[in-house]
Amino acid sequence: MKNFEKTISKSVSAMSGYLPGEQPSQGGWVKLNTNEFPYPPSPKVSKALVKAAREYAKLRLYPDPLSAALRAKIAEYFGLPAGFAMACNGSDDALNIVVRAFSDSARKIASINPSYSLYPVLAKIQGAKLVEYPFARNASGGFEIPFEKIFKSGANIFFFTNPNAPTGVGFGKNVVEKILKKFGGLVLVDEAYAPFAGWSAASLVEKYDNLIVTGTMSKGWGLAGIRVGWVLANPKIIEVLDRVRDSYNLDRLSQQAALAALDDDRYYAPLREKVVAERLNTRDFLLGLGWNAPESASNFILFEPKNADGESGADVAEDLFEFLKGKKVLLRYFPKEKLVNKSIRLTIGTPEQMAVFRKGVLAWLKKGAK
Ligand code: PMP
Repeated sequence: MKNFEKTISKSVSAMSGYLPGEQPSQGGWVKLNTNEFPYPPSPKVSKALVKAAREYAKLRLYPDPLSAALRAKIAEYFGLPAGFAMACNGSDDALNIVVRAFSDSARKIASINPSYSLYPVLAKIQGAKLVEYPFARNASGGFEIPFEKIFKSGANIFFFTNPNAPTGVGFGKNVVEKILKKFGGLVLVDEAYAPFAGWSAASLVEKYDNLIVTGTMSKGWGLAGIRVGWVLANPKIIEVLDRVRDSYNLDRLSQQAALAALDDDRYYAPLREKVVAERLNTRDFLLGLGWNAPESASNFILFEPKNADGESGADVAEDLFEFLKGKKVLLRYFPKEKLVNKSIRLTIGTPEQMAVFRKGVLAWLKKGAK
């Protein structure tokens, strides 16, 4: 086709797509790069999927377009009235729907930098301007929210990743409420990692009609492979989002698996506690090496490695990342992100996986000393 480039929409022609973390096709990896849950999903999920497979003839029919049973279950899980939840094809779907419904070239989106790197992509597709405000750093190196800049931004939506990705730092409900009271537009709290934080802003959606909470089963429920997420918000917001979403945004199998998983916190709660305990151990190990690693409320840690000579920097981080990759320990490194390219993001795995990680780090330090 001649002039193919010119057929692409103006906003899309000038952008690159989101770059997901690597999913190696071969086995044998200690995979600590995409913040997946290190344990398998609940056995109830397996039962639900086997049942759905036996009833495979039903796959001829479309699924429930509203995922009504799942919406009701999600609302109940968070102690909200029915009508405050919408089920989505992963929370990426939720974020995408919100951007399409509430932003355009005349309406700005605000976020903190660094944050989830999908937001700029979604904004660009929509032709919306994204204004990013860097975290302020306090005297002890902690991350602070640039409140005043956000309040004065004039943006229509503020994307608040809480706990933050990729730093892992979390902020309590009181901080969310402060933002809800002072920010003039919609506040989207992206709670992908909240299952590891021990709190959620979910209950606030009944009190604040400018709050949208998004969540996912990919991290805290071990279901990244079936793609289920949600929006919690006032029914007036849900009604607008329903205008935009795919009519059948969740297939039959995903709806069944998610219903089963949400019914089994007895299985999940102790496993989440194990992840949190391992996060604390791992951070102690990193701090013990004299490395910088902000306190995380999530299932990952962002840390800044120092080599055997005590040097840090992008080349040091890349060297450790590649060294561990050579040992089939896969972490996430963001070479193009200036604010975090001296650091590496480490997903918290099982105690066995973390032992392999620690061994790899010590071998890297030893190699450097030679
Ligand atoms: N929000 C954040 C902050 C994330 O890191 C991710 C996962 N990369 C998501 C949302 C989306 O997750 P999913 O689409 O699997 O629900």
